[in-house]
Amino acid sequence: MSVKAKCRNCGKESPAEQFKLHYKMRQMVCPTCFSGKTEKLQQEAKEKAQAPPKPAGWDMDDAYLEKVSSMRKKEEKDQFERIPGTDYVKYSCINCKYQFRYDVFRKKPRTCPYCNTDIPRLRTFSML
Ligand SMILES: [Zn+2]
Ligand SMILES: [Zn+2]
Repeated sequence: MSVKAKCRNCGKESPAEQFKLHYKMRQMVCPTCFSGKTEKLQQEAKEKAQAPPKPAGWDMDDAYLEKVSSMRKKEEKDQFERIPGTDYVKYSCINCKYQFRYDVFRKKPRTCPYCNTDIPRLRTFSML
């Protein structure tokens, strides 16, 4: 059985025999603190609380994850959404993301009123 001790740095309990003297903190700390993980976690929590804007510690992994999740959102949610009780759909331009009403039956407007990008034929009209 190992004796647990409370870390004075992070307040968590760890097996006492794993405590080591940290040269910077000048005290015995748990393995998590000793490896610098506690510091890192605190830093991350701080950065999360601040976002946005993106902190300097913004790394590839985060950027990648955000990209994936935004791609997933795009797949889940189509470019348009029917406005109940009308022939219009709420359409979000694929180029500039400007959102406007699109008349499904008259196929108007033909282009995005903001950036003039052609509105692709919306095959998903079958859902209407
Ligand atoms: Zn600790
Ligand atoms: Zn546009």
